[in-house]
Amino acid sequence: MKINVEVDNTRCINPLECGKCMRVCPTMAFKTYPPEVRKKGMNYDKWILDCLPFECIGCGKCEQVCSAGAVKVVIT
Ligand code: SF4
Ligand code: SF4
Repeated sequence: MKINVEVDNTRCINPLECGKCMRVCPTMAFKTYPPEVRKKGMNYDKWILDCLPFECIGCGKCEQVCSAGAVKVVIT
């Protein structure tokens, strides 16, 4: 089983203000990066949200709690 959590940073407007997915995640798999950090080609002028897949257990709580539809848990 492979778990991948896809974060759409165009939908997640401000992870520092919202942060619901981070609070609900039992393994603290989400990380935020300031705009200055250019990670994996994610070039945004705001804080960005990412998920570390090796810390995710695939519970799906983050996807359920995100009202912006910015998180998708894909299990293959
Ligand atoms: S719950 Fe959704 S909108 Fe809120 S910080 Fe997480 S991904 Fe962004
Ligand atoms: S699926 Fe569960 S463990 Fe994985 S990032 Fe979302 S809340 Fe965290």
